[in-house]
Amino acid sequence: MKYTFEISISGCNTICKHCYVSGGPGKNIDLQIYKKIIEKLSVILPQLKSEIDVTLGNEQFKHPYIKEIIETTYKTIPQYFSYEKSNLPTTGIALMNRDDKEQVLSALKTACAKMAMLTIHGNERHHNMMVGNNQGFLSIVSVIKLFQNYGFHVHLNFMLNKFLITDWEEILSTFSSYHDIDAHITIPLYLPIERLRNFQKYRAEYNECMQLKNKLSVFSMDEKAFFDKVEKFNERSIFPLLSDWDFKQKNISQPQWSFFNIDQNGDLYYGNVGLHTKYLGNILETSEQELLSAIQKKSANYDYSAYYNIDTLPLAKDLYANIFPLNSNYVFPDMEGAIYYWLDKINTPTILLNR
Ligand code: SF4
Repeated sequence: MKYTFEISISGCNTICKHCYVSGGPGKNIDLQIYKKIIEKLSVILPQLKSEIDVTLGNEQFKHPYIKEIIETTYKTIPQYFSYEKSNLPTTGIALMNRDDKEQVLSALKTACAKMAMLTIHGNERHHNMMVGNNQGFLSIVSVIKLFQNYGFHVHLNFMLNKFLITDWEEILSTFSSYHDIDAHITIPLYLPIERLRNFQKYRAEYNECMQLKNKLSVFSMDEKAFFDKVEKFNERSIFPLLSDWDFKQKNISQPQWSFFNIDQNGDLYYGNVGLHTKYLGNILETSEQELLSAIQKKSANYDYSAYYNIDTLPLAKDLYANIFPLNSNYVFPDMEGAIYYWLDKINTPTILLNR
């Protein structure tokens, strides 16, 4: 089993419409509480004897003591925490507003950070609307130079939506003067939560994606990889495969990977941030043995069982009959995106905790 523990150290400056972890305003974790959490994890995690990642969420640069947080974590549990493989996603807003940029970037480098990933949703007006912050677009434009000046590689993450397509030429002209940048297009997930139900009106359909044909040869983008996904994971391509889909079998074949979240109070939850399915105890108050046992009892929650009780899901053929005929052709990043969308359309209950 592989384990990921995300510690929520702060909220976000944005409320992105595609966000599957329900990001938005949130409190900063108390530095002393954070240090105690890391101390306790340094005792519990080795006992799992497994591949483990500890990550920080949501917008790290929003925390006033992020430098101390990075240094403490890297010093205490370097075997589980480093930025070596992280793409360091950020909106840039909080970092650009800090006085200690240099010290924070230096702490990141010590913890092996090499790159930063900036997500773009459309031209300035549309980007700011999609992230809910009027500083959003210009912060990205200015933070690129900052990262590059400190030797970070910059990767642009173009988040697919209807505006990204209509604004494509304008977006490219904004970023065309930058060098040593690469990029890819992300097709947003669908999960059975309110934020993503509301995002559907912005989700690109198959025919809209075709407008990007032969336009993705910039920033070393892999146009073929993008269109392979568009061809494979649009509703009309997936629909014929649904009739004999076996949810239980598909759930078993998902990666053996478990996700946990520790919130600003030290509460440990089973499930990704914003997608909790069970409370397991408080890191500071619950004994190490109880926490370890609660973690070990949990099976993988990579897909399907992360949101649904597999035993009560409708039969695929019944789902098929209920959503026929399709009146849209939305594009998803994988089969599951379309299936969760359809399950949600017929009001399939989830096991997500309402908080
Ligand atoms: S996508 Fe990232 S930055 Fe945007 S609201 Fe979600 S967690 Fe915050």
